[in-house]
Amino acid sequence: MTDFRKLTPGPIAAATHNKGKVRELKDLLAPLGFTPQSADELNLPEPEETGSTFAANAALKALAAAKAANMPALADDSGLAVDALYGDPGIFSARWGGPERDFASAMEKVNSAMVETGSDDRSAHFVCVLCVAWPDGHSHAFEGRVDGRLVWPPRGDKGFGYDPIFIRDGDEMTFGELDPALKHTISHRADAFTKLTAALL
Ligand code: IMP
Repeated sequence: MTDFRKLTPGPIAAATHNKGKVRELKDLLAPLGFTPQSADELNLPEPEETGSTFAANAALKALAAAKAANMPALADDSGLAVDALYGDPGIFSARWGGPERDFASAMEKVNSAMVETGSDDRSAHFVCVLCVAWPDGHSHAFEGRVDGRLVWPPRGDKGFGYDPIFIRDGDEMTFGELDPALKHTISHRADAFTKLTAALL
């Protein structure tokens, strides 16, 4: 059994510049007594995501933030994996939005790549790896997932990224149509967060 270092409630760096993720991470952390500060608020540099897995990228972002901010840091690496596209866009989910992070165009790209395969398999899942790191280089990572299917055209303007085309298995509404408070309890990020709190708190 892994021996986990405990995380004491208090200041923590939310190691992301993505506003949608900052919102979700703050919603998850604040009720537990943490005072999350975003990468923008802390003026943290954005490290290049050179890893080839969600876990590697989450670890490099968490470690860089913990060292720069000199406090524990929580990083998220996440993305959409589409079965008919053999897991793409996967770790490249943000990059499919181009330098402008234009997700209307990233969603078009995903949909046209799916249409091109000729497959009628619309299944996809979101993955999230949350990594907590301390300034001394210690870290722990937790993976969450939510399974569903993709629809076209996009629906709803409540979420971010690929939310408007993703419907969780058993649901009718896209993540873009759901009340954010509900999404935050069922998302891949919530799943990873449940594992994190069970181990570290
Ligand atoms: P990264 O982890 O910063 O490399 O970016 C992950 C990308 O995956 C985001 O920019 C979004 O496009 C997408 N993504 C991750 N989580 C979600 C989510 O909860 N909803 C919609 N898109 C997401």
